[in-house]
Amino acid sequence: MIANYHTHTHRCNHAIGREEDYVKEALKAGMKILGWADHTPYLFPGGYYSTYRMRPAQLPGYVKTIQELQEKYRGKIEMPIGLETEYYPKHFGDLLAFLRDFPIDYLILGQHFVGNEYDAPYCAVATDEKELLRRYCRQSMEAMNTGLFTYFAHPELIHYQGDWKFYQETMRALCTEAKSCGIPLEINLLGLGAGRHYPNRYFLEVAAEEGCEVILGCDAHSPDALNDPETERKGLDLAKEFDLKVLETVQLRSIHK
Ligand SMILES: [Zn+2]
Ligand SMILES: [Zn+2]
Repeated sequence: MIANYHTHTHRCNHAIGREEDYVKEALKAGMKILGWADHTPYLFPGGYYSTYRMRPAQLPGYVKTIQELQEKYRGKIEMPIGLETEYYPKHFGDLLAFLRDFPIDYLILGQHFVGNEYDAPYCAVATDEKELLRRYCRQSMEAMNTGLFTYFAHPELIHYQGDWKFYQETMRALCTEAKSCGIPLEINLLGLGAGRHYPNRYFLEVAAEEGCEVILGCDAHSPDALNDPETERKGLDLAKEFDLKVLETVQLRSIHK
């Protein structure tokens, strides 16, 4: 891969390693673009805060660290500054206003919860609830329609394990929307390498039928994840099997007005 737009840092509390070691691995792998997309800070009311994302106060340090690396590795590798972000209807507006004060180059959509997180289930827990799947799709479609997301990370994170016919019918709407919004769908290499429930073949089949474009994403939570040719090969094979068009790079969508 010449570009990966899905890279985490230790600030999310579940990724490891120094930022510069990620850069070194990306260079070893022959990458030209290393996009950072750590789990975004969020602004929640009351005492609630997620354990798997940076705090708002950590955002300046995140930006500064990447800027220093941009400077150090200028001419060798491009490093746009992004964030992996959920669309939470009640709080997305405040989040955007907050993020716009920083030189954030792009957002990728990673919808880990439906609702507003504190009031709804985690998407990656196995469920056969049809309404939850519908809700995940509706919310993701609304997110894509904001026009602010560059691509959709692990779009099949929702761990629905009921009737596959219903799954495909419901996910078809999400794929149609991605296609009409021009949003590439990610083939998530973390999930693929770890044997998680995503990438999902039923989903990829529908994505291909709807003519969606895909992009490989390392979802790196450690430096070595950026240099894993075997999993990359598996990802490309999967795309080929379903005859999906794989993008090598994406056009970043700005969040700034
Ligand atoms: Zn993560
Ligand atoms: Zn991620």
